[in-house]
Amino acid sequence: MNCEADKVIYMDNNATTRIAPEVVDAMMPFLTDCYGNPSSMYNFGGQVGKVITKARGQVAKLLGAEDSEVIFTSCGTESDSTAILSALQAFPEKRHIVTTRVEHPAVKNLCENLDRLTGHKHRVTRLQVESDGTLDMARYEEALADDTAIVSVMWANNETGVIFPVEKMAAMAKERGILFHTDAVQAVGKIPINLGELDIDFLSLSGHKLHAPKGVGVLCVKRGTPFVPFLAGGHQEEGRRGGTENVASIVGLGKACELAGEKMEEENSRVKKMRDRLEEGLLASVPKSMLNGHKTDRLPNTTNVSFEFVEGEAILLHMNLYNICASSGSACTSGSLEPSHVLRAMGVPFTAAHGSIRFSLSIYNTDAEVDFVLEKMPPIIAELRKMSPFWKAE
Ligand code: PLP
Repeated sequence: MNCEADKVIYMDNNATTRIAPEVVDAMMPFLTDCYGNPSSMYNFGGQVGKVITKARGQVAKLLGAEDSEVIFTSCGTESDSTAILSALQAFPEKRHIVTTRVEHPAVKNLCENLDRLTGHKHRVTRLQVESDGTLDMARYEEALADDTAIVSVMWANNETGVIFPVEKMAAMAKERGILFHTDAVQAVGKIPINLGELDIDFLSLSGHKLHAPKGVGVLCVKRGTPFVPFLAGGHQEEGRRGGTENVASIVGLGKACELAGEKMEEENSRVKKMRDRLEEGLLASVPKSMLNGHKTDRLPNTTNVSFEFVEGEAILLHMNLYNICASSGSACTSGSLEPSHVLRAMGVPFTAAHGSIRFSLSIYNTDAEVDFVLEKMPPIIAELRKMSPFWKAE
């Protein structure tokens, strides 16, 4: 299959990212010759175990964590489930969870299914967000109760890029003896993180969002935090996650974390400049367009823009004709025609929520690509509006 990756303008990096060439190089020996099982006694396998140790160190360094706090998993979703279910099992008498209305389905749907999964009745407080996607800290404080087992709040939102003050929220939870989990799948590699200085008990990340392969993730568990494994099995990961290690992907994730740490400041400020130029250009050139999400408390790579009175999926199809890849906040594919739960929670008007497009950039985007998108988007929206009964009624 030839995907012709060089022909696409890929601005959907919150969905997944290109694997860095250095990461592919680091992985290659473990997809070919070095196939030994890391748990084996002989050198052929044992030496493979050493590269997992190295990768653990690379991940820990990026997070400001201790090596022993890093547990490799299969993805962000597994990490999220492990953290929340672990806390509920560690404190079976506590049946309350605090989360937000804008979490990724990995946390949102887990919380909706907790009673079935644990066999206990739970109370879930889902914090409302403001119109710019930020949280009201007074409401958060009110939500923390004596029977709260865990708070699970994402570090940065995947649709809008809005960053939550998890450092402060974790400290407030800690004061009350409540465990704190953050889904940092979108934040890792894009903003500095130093877990050593924070009261965060659990942090989830996913390889494929930071130029490592799909199918590998991490749950970082603070030393001393009670932990109950999700996948009981072999002795791998010190008995905290059974299953033969995905060696090549773990090595790739370690390399990706090393690269992200080395280049974070410089690369992210370049990405932010491109993102800002794209956002400002779109808002200036397309009438009735608006930004969804806080202007500054946001990831450097993400912009979510609504083009009123047009359908997001129709916009994406037209963008596809020019090989421009992005995402829409409306989900007609599910058959519901409902806009995303994130935009609904923010109170984005119906006519705008339906026409929302998320552009998420990476270090591999260029200024020329931003120019191209800025040239193509205004005529696409104008053309679609000609067909929109809502626009005609305006
Ligand atoms: N959490 C957030 C915020 C995400 O954006 C994603 C993926 O889009 C996930 C969790 C799930 O990660 P994974 O695909 O590795 O399961």
